[in-house]
Amino acid sequence: MATMETISERDRIKTITTHYIDGAFVESHGRELMDIIQPTNGKVIARVTLGDEEDTRRAIAAAKRAFATFGRTTKEERSRYLRQLHEAVSARMDDLTAVMVEEYGGVARFARLIVESGVNSFAAAEKGLQELPLRQSWGKTTVTLEPVGVAGLITAWNANALFICLKLASAVAAGCTVVIKPSEMSSLQTRVMVECLNAAELPKGVFNVVTGLGTVVGAELVRNPDVAKISFTGSVAVGEAIMRDGAATMKRITLELGGKSPTILLDDAALDQAVPAAPTLAFMNSGQACAAGTRLLVPKSRLDEVKRAIRDEMRAFTVGDPADPNIAVGPMVSQKQYERVESYIRKGIEEGAEVLVGGEGHPKGLEAGYFVKPTVFVNVKNDMTIAQEEIFGPVLCVITYDSEDEAIRIANDSKYGLHSSVLGTDLQRARRVASQIRAGAGRDQRHDG
Ligand code: NAD
Repeated sequence: MATMETISERDRIKTITTHYIDGAFVESHGRELMDIIQPTNGKVIARVTLGDEEDTRRAIAAAKRAFATFGRTTKEERSRYLRQLHEAVSARMDDLTAVMVEEYGGVARFARLIVESGVNSFAAAEKGLQELPLRQSWGKTTVTLEPVGVAGLITAWNANALFICLKLASAVAAGCTVVIKPSEMSSLQTRVMVECLNAAELPKGVFNVVTGLGTVVGAELVRNPDVAKISFTGSVAVGEAIMRDGAATMKRITLELGGKSPTILLDDAALDQAVPAAPTLAFMNSGQACAAGTRLLVPKSRLDEVKRAIRDEMRAFTVGDPADPNIAVGPMVSQKQYERVESYIRKGIEEGAEVLVGGEGHPKGLEAGYFVKPTVFVNVKNDMTIAQEEIFGPVLCVITYDSEDEAIRIANDSKYGLHSSVLGTDLQRARRVASQIRAGAGRDQRHDG
């Protein structure tokens, strides 16, 4: 098993100075340094050398060379590579989980799920590849699915292992070679992941990984004519820029962006099941989740009992050391993210929402890290800032409605449309409501209580 690069004797922090290009760990051409800070205590735990445009161009060139052969691989060959990747990443699930807890502050039980989902994506891609006909004919027309070329994979910091595995698995299944640009804030996690991927022994150049700033490494991927496709997970603002800048070279672009997802609690919902579900949807991954259900829509007639149930349930959402398996909510990833969440909590209070649980400031005894109080607001109107903008922290807005139609209208009154949930006991009715919500992914949860 390879080890994390060097431990500097001087300051005893980990240092990472290489990228993974053309099947090897190579020294960074870029010289800019960035500190990696542990979110539980604000201490520097690592220093990473950031890649520059030259590193990125070298990685793109390697991927382009590899594509000449890899693009012509058969389903069987790609399946074998996917199995090799699956095996290599599975072998280090404990390490991948531990480093997500350390660097990102992900709570252990959720971090494990993220890593498992990442590993499973290789098996899922292999299954999909086997089931998908790559050639289909209708009359005189034949459609052949071919790899587009080099793909640039740009990812966010909140589920590093999952994003890298998911995107890489799809690319390998499709016969594309890739340059991965993970979030610079996930450098330690990326390092362990790259050690895993390296152990999978894929042909050199099939995957390359350059750690660096979005405006440097990411921008070069988006600009470079040798990159045919960008798959991006991150914020709306950056997604917009990528779509605009990628147009210059006619890139194919897939964007996975943010959310302000509604959870509609129907009037027939069984609260002993619906209320554990609603905060779980809101506070998963410490609220730093694109799909988090951060708007809970409640029938006005049931508000009082929902408030009581939520207050009771929130005792289960303990905040603290993410390594402790009993902890449900860890720190925010950075000081900036801490301040962002705090500013929204302040804004909610200023706009007239009422704090049911939580509120401003660090939870008691957790002042050293980037911990916030899991917060539930009631008396929220859907046009308030906290109901319209993505907070990306553990903040749940409870909004009341009078009728099913009004619930659907409020759910759709958002610039986002990533995810939604409907909680109720009548499955047909829940599905009917869900079908009217304009969201990319939905979930109906049946309660028999
Ligand atoms: P971000 O948009 O700031 O950064 C995402 C990635 O883009 C990073 O690797 C960053 O370095 C890179 N980047 C930044 N500027 C760039 C540029 N000009 N050109 C190319 N790349 C650039 O997002 P973040 O803060 O890392 O993540 C949080 C956001 O991601 C939230 O909005 C969240 O909802 C979203 N997200 C979405 C999903 C999803 O699947 N829909 C999943 C997780 C996170």
